[in-house]
Amino acid sequence: MVWDIVSTLLNRPPVTSSDGLTDMKNDKLDHRLFRQSRLRLAVWYGGVMGTILTLLGLGVYRAISHAHEVTIDREIASAADALHDAIEATASNPTQLSRVPSQLLPDLCLAGESCIGPVNSPASQVQDAYQYDYYIRIVDAAGQLIATGGIRPEGLPVLTSSDPWQMIQDEQGQEYHQVAIALEDDSQEIWAYLLVGRSFQDFDRYLSSVRWSLLIGLLLALALVTAASWLLSGLAMRPIYQSYSQIQQFTADAAHELRTPLAAIRATVESVLGLPSVSEEDAKETLVVVDRQTRRLTSLVSDLLLLSRLDSEKRTLVKVPCCLQDIISDIVEEMAAFAIREEIALAIDFQTLTPLMVLGNEEQLYRLMLNLVNNAITYTPAGGKVTITLKREQQQAQILVSDTGVGIAPEQQAKIFDRFYRVDAARAGQAGNSGLGLAIGQAIAKAHHGSLSVTSQLGIGSKFTLSLPVLL
Ligand code: ADP
Repeated sequence: MVWDIVSTLLNRPPVTSSDGLTDMKNDKLDHRLFRQSRLRLAVWYGGVMGTILTLLGLGVYRAISHAHEVTIDREIASAADALHDAIEATASNPTQLSRVPSQLLPDLCLAGESCIGPVNSPASQVQDAYQYDYYIRIVDAAGQLIATGGIRPEGLPVLTSSDPWQMIQDEQGQEYHQVAIALEDDSQEIWAYLLVGRSFQDFDRYLSSVRWSLLIGLLLALALVTAASWLLSGLAMRPIYQSYSQIQQFTADAAHELRTPLAAIRATVESVLGLPSVSEEDAKETLVVVDRQTRRLTSLVSDLLLLSRLDSEKRTLVKVPCCLQDIISDIVEEMAAFAIREEIALAIDFQTLTPLMVLGNEEQLYRLMLNLVNNAITYTPAGGKVTITLKREQQQAQILVSDTGVGIAPEQQAKIFDRFYRVDAARAGQAGNSGLGLAIGQAIAKAHHGSLSVTSQLGIGSKFTLSLPVLL
């Protein structure tokens, strides 16, 4: 009678509206939390990559401009040296400048003469000098202009310092790099200075195009980096999010599983307390329910503890040599009564004569195989058969638990190893099964460097295969 009331109470539709609302809110919060973390990660990644790329771009720009500057200075120096040698070979004072061969200085214009622009076809070594905005100036020791050649910029200062290399500007603010070399006569007396300079206009134009290319390249790279960092941070967050969701799901499932027996105990006790008087029979019935549910709770809690221990103690598991024949014989002995009660034929098929030894934790291996046999008997109708086969496949020991039971649909065969998953929850629940058995089994198999798999056909039967590395 008590149990009837309890069943009615337990079959009430669950009052989950407020819980559901909280769950939904939490779910949204979780999503926001992960989106924010993803955004933060992407911004940091993009920022760091952007800074690195910008520094790299600045470095490349600096290297290009420096290399170009060095090349130009080398050109100026070699043109100046060639002119210096030619002038010193033919002239030793300002009046002899007209003797300099016209192939070398075709457009030399002496001070006081009126000259128009540079000549177009200069010869030999100085040819390059005329092609690239060069000017040539010869000034005497007092700083007076004696002769000019090449381009003729307006308003150039003559000698601004004693430094041979100078950067000077003309009236329009155009920059020139200039080298000054002393012209000496036979007695090593300086009679004039040869100034050779070059406009930086084309160099500035070139640098400006390099700057633009680098800037556009940098912006494109930044856009790509931003997109990539968003994608990568999403990829990085995915496993964290998945394991977070799994933990959340696991906590919810565990809470749900714990709530069921607790609700049953509470409903039972409340229903008895509500009675005006309690007969001895009712009291006993209540205690039986409470006892059954408490056992269920205890087994659930110990399963949960074992799972968490298996997760955290994978490496510290104490292992000793275990004989598989012994374990299987013990299991058959323990399950024989249950098999008889369920009218199932339980058989052993040892296909190896020598004892098969594995390195493992005997208690855990026993538990794993016991669960496989227990499931096989539970999900096989009366009159069926469960066989435990033991054989050796090279370096692997194989324990096959096959039954002629209800079988498992192909789409559910992978799911049955998930925590709390039950194909037929009502049936498994009635048998007091929580859906943790195979999850624990797989964790134990993994902790022993083995594997647990299933092949099954609906209505025909299932075969669970446990493979473990053999010790000898
Ligand atoms: P449970 O505690 O419910 O037995 P398990 O993790 O051991 O949990 O099994 C998960 C589910 O896999 C079971 O609920 C059952 O539906 C299915 N299952 C396990 N073994 C068998 C079997 N031998 N035959 C058919 N179904 C099985």
